[in-house]
Amino acid sequence: MDNFLLGPAEIRQLADKLDVSPTKKLGQNFLHDPNTVRMIVAAAGLEDGSGQHVIEVGPGLGSLTLALLDEAEKVTAVEIDPRLAKQLPETIAQRAPHLSNKLTIIGRDALTITADDIDNPTALVANLPYNVSVPVLLHLLETFPTITRVLVMVQAEVADRLAAQPGTKIYGVPSVKASFYGNVRKAGNIGKNVFWPAPKIDSGLVRIDCTRPYPPELRTTVFPIVDAAFLQRRKTLRAALAGHYGSAAQAEHALTTAGIDPTLRGEKLSVNDYVTLAQAGH
Ligand code: SAM
Repeated sequence: MDNFLLGPAEIRQLADKLDVSPTKKLGQNFLHDPNTVRMIVAAAGLEDGSGQHVIEVGPGLGSLTLALLDEAEKVTAVEIDPRLAKQLPETIAQRAPHLSNKLTIIGRDALTITADDIDNPTALVANLPYNVSVPVLLHLLETFPTITRVLVMVQAEVADRLAAQPGTKIYGVPSVKASFYGNVRKAGNIGKNVFWPAPKIDSGLVRIDCTRPYPPELRTTVFPIVDAAFLQRRKTLRAALAGHYGSAAQAEHALTTAGIDPTLRGEKLSVNDYVTLAQAGH
């Protein structure tokens, strides 16, 4: 049933045909294990909603794309490497012609995608390029309020940071910003050998159920406070937010108005605390 998915032989053949030597700069590590591909799609939980329009960033040689097309109603794949973007429709037509009409390809940097480029996507499922994984994730969450489900593969350490809870050492800006959009959790670990070429570090899956508990326009007030709070994470909030509020006294006033102890460090606050602080005003 899974024989249209790409295994090690097909990945090597495609790479040879295109004369692709995967580049580190573009984070090109291609999945060549159909079981892992199926596991990623299952972890996305797309089956509990019909009519899914999935964005895939960096389809590469099409390993995950084929499985997503099998599950979703539509897939829009955004690929920066023109050789890969050009080959993808051919690969789908050869391996799974019955799924070809579900795929749209955009040959661009995912960071330049705007709301006009993709029509009401409902999910983001991707093996993200490592060097831009967090910016791409946050950019798409911000750009498309219709996205309700995210399942991304990122470096293991980044997965842990995204899903970290307040008060832990690894809790930081990505943790707070991702949870602004909903519930973030780690959805599995992925070893190195399911990729060609094998990366040096393990990967992790992160799932976000985008409940979007806060009005989107709050983002522009909340995120600068989060950035300032973690810029010097050893400092108390009173000191770390002095620049943002104009002075330490004004920062203290905002914090106490919001019911937050000004001697705490930023790593102690939940996203809800940051939202309360932003709403407390200046
Ligand atoms: N999805 C494929 C797989 O799982 O086998 C490939 C994943 S590989 C980790 C990352 C892919 O993202 C590569 O195909 C790379 O060319 C592409 N890429 C890198 N930077 C990108 C960007 N800024 N926008 C869109 N695609 C990008």
